[in-house]
Amino acid sequence: MGRESGPRARTTFGWSEISMNNLKLTGKKPGEDRSVIEVGGVRIGEEFVVIAGPCSVESEEQTLRTAVAVKEAGAKMLRGGAFKPRTSPYAFQGLGLKGLKILDKAKRETGLPIVTEVVDTRDVSWVGEYADLLQIGARNMQNFSLLREVGKSGKPILLKRGMYSTLEEWLNCAEYILAEGNDKVILCERGIRTFETYTRNTLDLSMVPAVHAESHLPILVDPSHGTGILYMIEPMSLSAVMAGADGLEIEVHVDPASALSDKDQQLTPEAFKALMRRITELREFMAERAMADADAAKRGDPSAAPVAGQNHAAVRAAAAGASSSRDPFADAMD
Ligand code: PEP
Ligand code: MN
Repeated sequence: MGRESGPRARTTFGWSEISMNNLKLTGKKPGEDRSVIEVGGVRIGEEFVVIAGPCSVESEEQTLRTAVAVKEAGAKMLRGGAFKPRTSPYAFQGLGLKGLKILDKAKRETGLPIVTEVVDTRDVSWVGEYADLLQIGARNMQNFSLLREVGKSGKPILLKRGMYSTLEEWLNCAEYILAEGNDKVILCERGIRTFETYTRNTLDLSMVPAVHAESHLPILVDPSHGTGILYMIEPMSLSAVMAGADGLEIEVHVDPASALSDKDQQLTPEAFKALMRRITELREFMAERAMADADAAKRGDPSAAPVAGQNHAAVRAAAAGASSSRDPFADAMD
């Protein structure tokens, strides 16, 4: 894995060796552990994390009701956009400061840390007062001054993949943030533009093992923007878990039909609850398999090679006898 397999693949496809090899801070070093990023008591990279909430903060009632529902279903953080990067300048742009105050209230009521997007260098410091995890959206992935600014902020950053970006470009954007002295970066695959128009984007789940091979940073998957289609969110979430993702970011709205943005892809709280149950079942199954494989490996059984999803940090920790003081499956098992 990682460095051993990387250079050969890059040569085959003629990728630039220079930029990948220049990942001084984000690149994986041989023998180095994956990073664990702590956000408001949640340890991303160690525990499996689901971030859920509405696309946009629209009102106090909508946000609070959604926050309570996603917490009850097992989400560890609340998402919600107060600044919305919209295709049309006439579309709903977000509530701004009012939206941040609503998120703050939701945090006080539920205890969930807040994930929200920042779109402008001038807003980083004050948005950072409300956000526990600052999101850089796909459209701003290569906004280098914004990357430098959030790097200087020292806040944990969720860096979404640009819709036209290669892995190399994405990791170099993370490098901009780390180069400012901020190593609290989490990546998020959210789909890319391809010739396929059936889905909103083509969710590139191959980036999960690719990021784990090339970088020590955690990677989440956003199946909501990644597909834009409700019935695909469950199969893509489960596939992301199998691929070894460190978590998911999912849009949930108490009344999707009335949503002011992305109404076609937001799950109802009931659908989200059902999805969380499936995710837990799959993770329990994976943990059982990983533990059985670890036992078989101890006996010298050659069939014990782990499958891809077992490469998940939390699965490996469980298989290793949960060496960390926190039980990574405490949440999955209850
Ligand atoms: C979002 O998560 O609110 C969002 C706008 O996503 P993306 O930047 O991936 O399009
Ligand atoms: Mn959205």
